[in-house]
Amino acid sequence: MTHYGHPWIYRSQIGSVSEESPGDIYAVHSASGFLLGKGYYNPRSEITVRLFTYKDEVIDEAFFESRIKKALQFRNKYVKDTNAYRVVSSEADGLPGLIVDKYADHLVFQILTLGMEKRKETVVAALKKALNPAFIYEKSDAPSRKLEGMNEVKRWWEEEGKAEVEIFEGKLKFIVDISGGHKTGFYLDQRDSRRAIKDFVKDKKVLDCFSYTGGFSVYSSFYGAKEVLGIDIHKASVELANRNAKLNGLSEEKIRFKTGNIFNELKRFDAKRERFDVIILDPPSFVKSKNALEGALTGYKEINLRAFKILDEGGILATFSCSGHIEEELFLQVILDAAFDAKRGVKILNRCSQPLDHPVDPFIPQTLYLKGLVLEAS
Ligand code: SAH
Repeated sequence: MTHYGHPWIYRSQIGSVSEESPGDIYAVHSASGFLLGKGYYNPRSEITVRLFTYKDEVIDEAFFESRIKKALQFRNKYVKDTNAYRVVSSEADGLPGLIVDKYADHLVFQILTLGMEKRKETVVAALKKALNPAFIYEKSDAPSRKLEGMNEVKRWWEEEGKAEVEIFEGKLKFIVDISGGHKTGFYLDQRDSRRAIKDFVKDKKVLDCFSYTGGFSVYSSFYGAKEVLGIDIHKASVELANRNAKLNGLSEEKIRFKTGNIFNELKRFDAKRERFDVIILDPPSFVKSKNALEGALTGYKEINLRAFKILDEGGILATFSCSGHIEEELFLQVILDAAFDAKRGVKILNRCSQPLDHPVDPFIPQTLYLKGLVLEAS
């Protein structure tokens, strides 16, 4: 296979290091002395160097500002009909370890690596210049920070913004809990999938599993579902989902949410012989590392199998995996195993992936993590 170059350099690939200075920027050379690029170094991490560039250039505030502006231009071209989107998506935008999401006039950023942490002040200065946001919140609470030797940081930069920000996607509105929500507050990466299911829900009885703050549920109800039930294990998310339904003028008879564990709830529906026309399965990533893959596959298979069992003839399953460790082909295999065991046939109605503000760079295969299938079950 052709080797095109990639921003990650693993510990095992490094011959020697000039001097140990974790988090600093190094010029990286091949064994024959050829410049591979410049990036930051963290000996604690398996991915020991992440390159910013394959050229010999200075990594300063102007560099960050230019990368951020390029990222923003890309979104301005392709993101439509919303005021909430990802502005910077780490490696996919040439800024490894940095995530920046925009919710109306609020920016929320996340630092994932020591190299980026050390440049935080510069990054914030560049963000201000490029985007001029009203408020900036740092939500650096990803568990992976521990592997880089860092603690959690959650705080406003300078002025405190709103705890909750209202955003819109097309005709719909959502309240985003900036500091208390998951990730940076909203699953922006499921925007295209939410839009994709609206064509399949008219007059249907919909079950939204792992509903968080109600994204898929609110779309389903707004686009004509007869009744919608959203279930999530996290109580605060369920409360916010109810408020999001009200915010969009949806009636309580047509949309409701409950707190529950999907693994138990799906079993209970089957025991009661309750059936649905449309089921959405949008679980959290069950795979935290490559080693945990097997257990995760069992989890994915179980929920999909149980969903197939309670889906009516001709019913629709919209099923997702946001784990980068599960490739598309493997995901399809798990779904087929589940369908086979449930004695169901399937047809693919739609394939889903990340929206364009979470760009996929095929030179960096890890930038593709989200996949989904909308299936009709016979
Ligand atoms: N579909 C949502 C995002 C789902 S994220 C959207 O578009 O906004 C995954 C959700 O699964 C989280 O809200 C988390 O609280 C919930 N969750 C995790 N484990 C669960 C379980 N066993 N049962 C129910 N919900 C669970």
